[in-house]
Amino acid sequence: MLATLSRSAAGVGRRALASRSYLTHAQLPEEHQMVREMCRTFADTDLAPNAGAWDKNHTFPAAAVKQLGELGLMGISVPEEHGGAGLDYLAYAIAMEEVSRGCASTGVIMSVQNSLFGFPVKEFGTPEQKDEYLTPYAGGAKLGCFGLSEPGNGSDAGAASTTAVKEGSEYVISGTKAWITNAHDADAAVVFATTDKSLKHKGISAFIVPTDSPGFSLGKKEDKLGIRASSTGNLIMEGVRVPETALLGEEGMGFKIAMMTLDAGRIGIAGQALGIASAAIDCATNYALERKAFGAPIAKLQAVQTHLSKMAVARDSARLLTWRAAMLKDAGQPYIKEAAMAKLAASEAATMCGHTAIQVLGGMGYVSDMPAERHYRDARITEIYEGTSEVQHLVIAGNLLKEYS
Ligand SMILES: Cc1cc2nc3c(=O)[nH]c(=O)nc-3n(C[C@H](O)[C@H](O)[C@H](O)COP(=O)(O)OP(=O)(O)OC[C@H]3O[C@@H](n4cnc5c(N)ncnc54)[C@H](O)[C@@H]3O)c2cc1C
Repeated sequence: MLATLSRSAAGVGRRALASRSYLTHAQLPEEHQMVREMCRTFADTDLAPNAGAWDKNHTFPAAAVKQLGELGLMGISVPEEHGGAGLDYLAYAIAMEEVSRGCASTGVIMSVQNSLFGFPVKEFGTPEQKDEYLTPYAGGAKLGCFGLSEPGNGSDAGAASTTAVKEGSEYVISGTKAWITNAHDADAAVVFATTDKSLKHKGISAFIVPTDSPGFSLGKKEDKLGIRASSTGNLIMEGVRVPETALLGEEGMGFKIAMMTLDAGRIGIAGQALGIASAAIDCATNYALERKAFGAPIAKLQAVQTHLSKMAVARDSARLLTWRAAMLKDAGQPYIKEAAMAKLAASEAATMCGHTAIQVLGGMGYVSDMPAERHYRDARITEIYEGTSEVQHLVIAGNLLKEYS
């Protein structure tokens, strides 16, 4: 469905920076407003009413994921010739916010498919790899995952201990990737493995590995604090043989591919965090208008108004940072520092809004009859994955210092 918007939206991101900045939803180009409206309706009708039960039962939202594919949301920036919507990153950030407002688990499934799996295949894949690993994935018929972290290293991604040894026209991959989103539902994984240990991070290469390969197995499903409807687990590879055509990019390019993927992916996670923050604000504000104390709705109390105001300021300022990062990327300008700022600010806004919404609801915030406690739990991961907040500070300060030296 989104593909029908893509022709008119192509280049909108580039025009956005050249001509004007968008500060409110009403100022967005028509195409982006339509993306927002479509995602909002989908979130309100198909995601939000089910998100609590999916969370409680750890249910993978299979039907919703299929719908994401049908709506064009599983390959938002994948070109149309590969089954995607061909839209820009501003559209992606907006879609991520609206979908995650309905269900943060569905949001992370969509973000991994678009950012962590789709982006590296789109940017570095051969035409054959794109045919096999973009087209069915962008349409949602198949699901991908991204295996960078390991039990022994997460933030220190350059210290990968998974190895890929060349044997004739094949690579033999051995090692374990940890914490992998979509692990139990994925058809293929982008896996990072060392092809030359002596070169340290410059000896890491990226591979596309089908999850039904002999020697490929999964660890247990992690029992998580939040985003419980998405699966997370180890990818265990014991002598997995892939043809040399499974190499993504060139040998030794893996670390660069991983970092570029995460730089762009942070815009999607910022969108997810904004969606969680918005859901918490919706919940708290509606409750404050309904709940009466001392003869009037608690929304009349100045202390409650201060809570609502702080939430709105944090969410709106993080949204502007997110849109800025997306528009810079769409305009082909440097955006790494800005994407890290967006992810940092949006994830902090999400955790603050989740925390504060519970306060506004009082006792009702603490029980699962209301969604506030789920938003609080879901928010926390956005400060950890795709680079912890501490790592975002390193990226931001590193770029800032470069600008001054
Ligand atoms: C639910 C979930 C889903 C995930 N999905 C994926 C996925 O799909 N694919 C994938 O590859 N990974 C995934 N991850 C892994 C995630 O990216 C890592 O957990 C994260 O990068 C942190 O790594 P770590 O857990 O090893 O923590 P560590 O790196 O051990 O960090 C521990 C603490 O030390 C701090 N720290 C570490 N290094 C520095 C430094 N240089 N300066 C300052 N502080 C530092 C960290 O900020 C943190 O506070 C997922 C994790 C979770 C929990």
